[in-house]
Amino acid sequence: MKTEPFIEKLEEYLQLQQWTDKWPELTVGFSTRKNGVSQNGYQSLNVGLHVGDDSCAVIENRKKIADILNFPLESWVCKDQVHDKKIVKVSKGNGGAGTVSYKDGIKGTDGIYTSDKDVLLTSCYADCVPLYFFSQKSGLIGLAHAGWKGTVKNIANEMIQTWVQKEKVDVNDIFVAIGPSIGSCCYVVDDYVKDHVTDALLSHSFAAVGEEIAMGQYTLHLKEVNHLLVLEAGVKEENIIVSSYCTSCEEDLFFSHRRDQGKTGRMMSFIGWKEGQRFEY
Ligand SMILES: [Zn+2]
Repeated sequence: MKTEPFIEKLEEYLQLQQWTDKWPELTVGFSTRKNGVSQNGYQSLNVGLHVGDDSCAVIENRKKIADILNFPLESWVCKDQVHDKKIVKVSKGNGGAGTVSYKDGIKGTDGIYTSDKDVLLTSCYADCVPLYFFSQKSGLIGLAHAGWKGTVKNIANEMIQTWVQKEKVDVNDIFVAIGPSIGSCCYVVDDYVKDHVTDALLSHSFAAVGEEIAMGQYTLHLKEVNHLLVLEAGVKEENIIVSSYCTSCEEDLFFSHRRDQGKTGRMMSFIGWKEGQRFEY
């Protein structure tokens, strides 16, 4: 598997330039921890409202990103994530959900998608794997949050099958990006997790994604697990991008739940496209 960084465009976020070069209508990327107003363990661009930070600071951080991306908070859709695989189609009418109050986000949902313009889908992370989905012909955009639980429940496949079966999207027209998350360099799991991963990998052994480094201790390449599951779901290899960034290694850029031992902020993935900018196909 070839991995590549999301290109750093601005301090406050990494742009998924491989997609924006091809489809300039898209706004898509991953926020960093830089240039925000949060203090202490949340320094500084924390966008998580549910992690113990001062919510006024979080909202100010979110407004800063909204200004940079030119998507006001009223156009954002945020969700209440539960490490499951439920996928919800959202619309412009959901704009503003969960932006200033965590409990008002889309309930119990780790995957959202839309065909509407002027909507910015968002999802929060501190090590889990951000998955981005795009179909050029249908104009569908989607995001999914995949920690190890969402990964082994195969939320990636859930989104892809929803698009193929409900939205009648040709699987050959689905593009997937696997964003910055904890790398196998920093992620060690036990037998319990390893067994679940092994069960989820239909045609591969655990050796494809990890190795035993001590009795009952295994490195785990969670991005690669998702990559294999996306391929298994029928997406073409050339339509998949895998970020090389490790959220735990890159302390200047990212919060990391493992590295910071739980008390830390969140980055967010985002994807949206603007009114009046239809894709050509
Ligand atoms: Zn690392």
